[in-house]
Amino acid sequence: MCGIIGYTGHQNSVPVLLEGLRTLEYRGYDSAGIAVFEDGKIKVAKEKGRLDDLVEKMKSEGVPNGHIGVGHTRWATHGGVTVKNAHPHAVGDVYLVHNGIIENFRELKAELKGVKFNSDTDSEVLA
Ligand code: GLU
Repeated sequence: MCGIIGYTGHQNSVPVLLEGLRTLEYRGYDSAGIAVFEDGKIKVAKEKGRLDDLVEKMKSEGVPNGHIGVGHTRWATHGGVTVKNAHPHAVGDVYLVHNGIIENFRELKAELKGVKFNSDTDSEVLA
């Protein structure tokens, strides 16, 4: 079962998000990601595996820094355990983390003709 945490406030959101996700690790997960509003843009960092793998990736690729953010630990139900399937998912200006299953995602996907999907998840159709 996944974990979701959001933060808005005066602190840098990243440590808050990571600490929150750590408290939810007991629920089980296979990948993790965060999206953070930084200087008018949203930066995403995600990785398969453990939270520590995400932290290591951010150390080499850059740690987002902003006061608003959302974090997710994923337990895959639709789509393999890959970076592209890790949450958050983004479509235009919409960034989404999701817990659970969208039972009719195949029907919804079929209706969204012409839309390019970047993951194999059910969740992305919601965005
Ligand atoms: N169904 C979604 C996925 O496979 C969300 C799974 C979850 O609750 O973590 O990405």
